[in-house]
Amino acid sequence: MGIIVQKYGGTSVGTPERIRLVAEKIIKRQREGNQMVIIVSAMGKSTDSLIQLAREVTSNPDPREMDMLLTTGEQVSISLLAMALMDKGADAVSFTGPQLGIQTTAFHQKARILDIDVSRIHQALSKDKIVVVAGFQGVSENQEITTLGRGGSDTSAVALAAKLRAECEIYTDVDGIYTMDPRKLHGAKKLETISSEEMMEMASLGAGVLHHRSVELAHKFGVPLYVASTFSGQSGTRIVIGGNGKMEDSLITGMTSSHSDVQVILMNLPVGMKSLRRIFDEMGDKEVNVDMISQMMNGDKRMHISFTIPREDAHVARELMDTWLQEDDAIHWSINEDIVKMSIVGMGMRTHSGVAGKVFDLLEQEDIEVKMITTSEINISWVMSSADEEKAIQVIGDGFDLTEKEIERE
Ligand code: ADP
Ligand code: ASP
Ligand code: MG
Repeated sequence: MGIIVQKYGGTSVGTPERIRLVAEKIIKRQREGNQMVIIVSAMGKSTDSLIQLAREVTSNPDPREMDMLLTTGEQVSISLLAMALMDKGADAVSFTGPQLGIQTTAFHQKARILDIDVSRIHQALSKDKIVVVAGFQGVSENQEITTLGRGGSDTSAVALAAKLRAECEIYTDVDGIYTMDPRKLHGAKKLETISSEEMMEMASLGAGVLHHRSVELAHKFGVPLYVASTFSGQSGTRIVIGGNGKMEDSLITGMTSSHSDVQVILMNLPVGMKSLRRIFDEMGDKEVNVDMISQMMNGDKRMHISFTIPREDAHVARELMDTWLQEDDAIHWSINEDIVKMSIVGMGMRTHSGVAGKVFDLLEQEDIEVKMITTSEINISWVMSSADEEKAIQVIGDGFDLTEKEIERE
């Protein structure tokens, strides 16, 4: 008998009726002869509500206590799903992350999974139980409860699938992976398959459909990953590990736009590695991910640096600059919060040139100003004002064939 790992997201378990429907789906697969391990997220938007609650108590919640609070969301949904499964005649047992020994690093709210002890899962499966596991949470070496970052249940699911050598099915509120978030790009196309490399790139560039570390883990451990809707019954998207993933050769596979970064602009810093080290060591020590960086000289002795960091980490840049300014009053700095990062992703870029030129032609046609640019082997990303987002999405989406075109017959 094979093990199947399934993950159900917040919307999929958002109401008691949906929990009962999910339970039926799981039992059907078990009766087809599979051993079922199910990872669930917190119900609906309950994680958001818990964050809101904390903010009503304090403007600066302690990270350890935040993890203590947020992990309660998944404890509600696992117990309810196990009860629904039992009510429908199956045997089921739920486990929290710490109960299963989902070992993580100690960094609260950004912990990474180190290992999982699957012996309790095997024991339960051998007694024909359906195992229900809380996503998004784990425990550090010091027995502290941790969380993996927003959307982290996908990563819990893939990590468990890797440990159990099973396939991983992610059930959510869309029919699969689209060329872009269908809520943003009108007429976005659904992809039958996508390569794990492209999906990793899209997830880390802000396609919220999968937690980026889940795709990294799937790629690293060769876990077959499938994303589909919990309720529609339509076929979903298969993430092909390695390889191209597509029969036909399309240049660009997908597009993302993300508001999760801010642009830090530092002017008149002393020239040299010392300044760069001071900034980037500080960011690294606080686990702040610096993304796009640009540098411009201002005379021989001073330079301007601009870079993007996650919005939630803007305070780290503020604290650094506040202390630096006390030592050197020639420095000026500001944070631009009104930006959006857009990216296009495609393996086709490895073999085709001229893609960047086409992007900038299309943006120029719409009078869109680009503030920063980076490229990798399979993506081009740029930062622009958030006011231009809608226009840019449509012109790039249509220009690179990411939308369904109506067939004109006559
Ligand atoms: P879950 O709670 O099931 O984890 P999420 O809200 O985290 O669901 O992810 C699903 C959402 O991801 C979709 O509703 C969709 O708006 C968004 N999304 C972003 N990019 C894409 C994409 N390329 N394809 C499909 N959905 C996307
Ligand atoms: N409940 C958590 C969140 O909302 C984890 C998840 O949904 O994957 O971020
Ligand atoms: Mg999610």
